[in-house]
Amino acid sequence: MARDYYGTLGVRQDATSEEIKRAYRKLARELHPDVNPDEAAQTRFREVTAAYEVLSDPQKRKIVDMGGDPLGNGGGGGGGGRDPFGGFGLGDIMDAFFGAAGGGGGGRGPRSRVQPGSDALLRVQMTLEECANGISREIAVETAILCDLCRGSGCSEGSTPIACDTCGGRGEVQSVQRSFLGQVVTARACPTCRGLGEVIPDPCRQCAGEGRVRARRTITAKIPPGVADGMRVRLSGQGEVGPGGGPAGDLYIEVEELPHATFEREGADLHCTLRVQMTTAALGAVVPLEAIDGHIELDLEPGTQPGAELLLPGRGLPRLRSTGRVDGRGDLHVHIEVEVPTRLDARQTELLRELAALRGEEKHTLASATNRSGGLFSRLRSRR
Ligand SMILES: [Zn+2]
Ligand SMILES: [Zn+2]
Repeated sequence: MARDYYGTLGVRQDATSEEIKRAYRKLARELHPDVNPDEAAQTRFREVTAAYEVLSDPQKRKIVDMGGDPLGNGGGGGGGGRDPFGGFGLGDIMDAFFGAAGGGGGGRGPRSRVQPGSDALLRVQMTLEECANGISREIAVETAILCDLCRGSGCSEGSTPIACDTCGGRGEVQSVQRSFLGQVVTARACPTCRGLGEVIPDPCRQCAGEGRVRARRTITAKIPPGVADGMRVRLSGQGEVGPGGGPAGDLYIEVEELPHATFEREGADLHCTLRVQMTTAALGAVVPLEAIDGHIELDLEPGTQPGAELLLPGRGLPRLRSTGRVDGRGDLHVHIEVEVPTRLDARQTELLRELAALRGEEKHTLASATNRSGGLFSRLRSRR
């Protein structure tokens, strides 16, 4: 079981860092060994100090909030040979006493074993229909997760890290070199503990001391309606768990939109081309059409021209705002192509000649360039 760090300090789980600091300062004044040499008070002081160490560190606090224990499962205070101030600098306590404004912990001293995890990226292929309606799909994700055996501590049950012999727990080793300028002292990360200041003598057998393990799990990805190629949905805290069981990064699901057989997309608007026969264009008709959101009976006026564009407001895709809200739908643009018959039999030729004569259609004119309608793509381009 994870220890109740909030209870130890007597603060609520939503306490601000200022409230945590105040609570610790108050308890430390009562329980500090200089003030209160009583054995029970000292044990309590160690517990309170450990709780403050955990809750004042945003990363460690996140681990607690996720049900983990950043100090491992070594049982309640008192046990083992762990330094009561285990692995954190005096500066932290000084901060608590004197209310120094944050800032502590930079550069010096051993680095924390617990590091935040990185983000993960996953691509999902979606058809245009799925982009229009949104999906809720089960997908397999493989990331590092918190080792459930040691809960991130990296230690086998009942054991704790011990101070590194090489660096004496400081996380860095110094070497002195003589040069013509005199002695030069350089410090570098301790090679034995990799700068952690402590080593794990008996690593967890499941994660080999890493505090995390790789695992495959299935999550339900909910992608809202209206997404487009390249958009990402963030699943907070579903990415990689960090070294030492550090808080997980985020998981991003990126939409890979598959091309559609009939619709071309322009934001929330859709374009398609409807090919009709010359006679249909001349006489008009009701043409059935499958739009992205269902069936349409398209009313084609008599005398519809090649290149005509019919606008069906609100029959495009849901318009997804950057806030994540859907705000209406785009339009559907139907571009008309008229097919002229090529193989006419004798009777058809006769009928068309008769029609042409009746309408006096033997003369031809050159249209002016400004009236000429371009193809679908040039119109799309000129719209932008
Ligand atoms: Zn070391
Ligand atoms: Zn483990």
